Amino acid sequence: MQKENLIIIGAGPAGLTAAIYAARANLNPLVIIGNQAGGQIAITNEVENFPGIDSILGPELTDNMKAQAEKFGARFEFDEVTEVKFAAGQPLYLRTYGAEYEARAVIVATGASARRLGIPGEAEHIGKGVSYCATCDGFFFKGKDVLVVGGGDSALQESLFLTKFADRVRVVHRRDELRAGELLKDRAKANNKIQFVLETALETIEGPGKVQGVQARNLKTGQVERWATDGVFVFVGHFPNTELFKGQLTMDEQNFLVVDKYMQASVPGVFAAGEVMDPIYKQAVASAGQGCQAALSAERYLEALTDPA
Ligand code: NAP
Repeated sequence: MQKENLIIIGAGPAGLTAAIYAARANLNPLVIIGNQAGGQIAITNEVENFPGIDSILGPELTDNMKAQAEKFGARFEFDEVTEVKFAAGQPLYLRTYGAEYEARAVIVATGASARRLGIPGEAEHIGKGVSYCATCDGFFFKGKDVLVVGGGDSALQESLFLTKFADRVRVVHRRDELRAGELLKDRAKANNKIQFVLETALETIEGPGKVQGVQARNLKTGQVERWATDGVFVFVGHFPNTELFKGQLTMDEQNFLVVDKYMQASVPGVFAAGEVMDPIYKQAVASAGQGCQAALSAERYLEALTDPA
């Protein structure tokens, strides 16, 4: 059993910022990186709204944060937490694939994962034309036709990125109005490779083998059409990565962790930051801010604990 002062679960902007603050406060944090180093922002292409940085690639931003945390002494473990026992209180127990830990404090920053459409043909074509990451897979669609599902900022930002490769990008959105902000809307509308198909939902993704087409329903007329296409990129929001904490930490009706104003979850000594607890803002800078708050609260909590690590 490895004994730790502070374990941070997750290494996106929330976990990495918590690591910077905790390491600078001499809390000797151990960051367990999980299965997506850098979090969602690390699979984003260009970040233009992180204060103080005009434009930066997502992976570069998180690499910089990690290097900054390491400079102050944060330790990183490439492992994944598979079980926690928090409900019983101190010491907080965590198991990973490679080790067992007892921690005096924990910051949960496990982020969120891409939501699926849940339609026939989707699951079996992942990696065969169905994707949730334009940065990862866009390159494979050089000169091809792709569909993007969703009407939010992600859908439009990733559509713009896909135009670097694909010949045609059709944005398929279920409502007659896009949810995305004005700047992205204007940029997407000005791009002649992007077309909008509104009030439409995909019903089936078809092969055989790789994606060859879809069945799409016009939600106004009810009419279903078959369209040929080479790829379907899905950007329909995210769900919090909280499965691990079921029965251990209190969650709301959408499975986000519930925290108090000090970012403390339902068990003393367990704090949460970023998209695992934030159903509203979901921005890299918001997650970073929450990571800072969680680390400062963990520092105060650890100071108040009487027995040393
Ligand atoms: P989002 O804003 O929640 O948008 C999700 C979109 O998917 C919505 O248009 C929604 O439709 C649609 N949708 C949801 N479930 C669906 C389903 N089952 N079938 C079809 N469509 C479905 O998510 P997001 O675009 O990933 O953005 C998340 C957050 O990150 C937002 O706060 C956003 O501002 C931020 N973000 C910012 C930037 C940027 O600033 N450049 C870039 C990316 C993301 P409805 O509109 O009908 O609900």
